[in-house]
Amino acid sequence: MQYNPATDIEKIIVSEAEIETQVKRLGKMISADYADTDADLVCVGMLNGAAIFFSDLVRRIETCPIVFDFMRASSYGDGTVSSERVVIERDLSVDINEKHLLLIEDIVDSGITMKHILEYLRHKNPRPASIKVCALLSKPSRRRVEVPIDYLGLEVPDEFLIGYGMDYAKKYRNLPYIGVLKREIYDENVKR
Ligand code: 5GP
Repeated sequence: MQYNPATDIEKIIVSEAEIETQVKRLGKMISADYADTDADLVCVGMLNGAAIFFSDLVRRIETCPIVFDFMRASSYGDGTVSSERVVIERDLSVDINEKHLLLIEDIVDSGITMKHILEYLRHKNPRPASIKVCALLSKPSRRRVEVPIDYLGLEVPDEFLIGYGMDYAKKYRNLPYIGVLKREIYDENVKR
């Protein structure tokens, strides 16, 4: 089928303007919370989905020195549901000893990936001074394990979303808005 984002999308659920509003709001909250810290804030983007959100958000954090790093995790399931087996495919590469860590994620769905990452980082030696989570989106109705989200953009319904970093079959990440993909495009094989 011909690639055409305009016709592949059923509806836009978060517009460019709304994304900008949320990024600014989150940036302000994070800037205020870390204003008095002496330690670096290590912003950790979760690849690949959070890449665009990460790059917009870090430019709105203005009160403390920031270090960039990235992690990538994959969860393997039976095809249609996230499994509890999460594999860290890319680990941190900077020194986190006594640093504040801010994990930046596109979306928390079942919560399994973030729970696993948090447990992994809490057991790291040397230890970070603190670990917080910032997610642009959350699907509360899909949650299977509880994870603390310290900074949340928006709650969204249980629909498969694409754009602003989020993909279907590796595509659509570059859309400047967040949309719901038409069912006929992703069919029953979508991995969730
Ligand atoms: P969780 O472990 O919370 O179930 O899943 C987290 C990851 O699943 C997210 O970081 C994201 O990569 C992916 N994911 C969850 N919901 C969606 C969605 O609606 N669209 C896309 N493209 N990815 C999603």
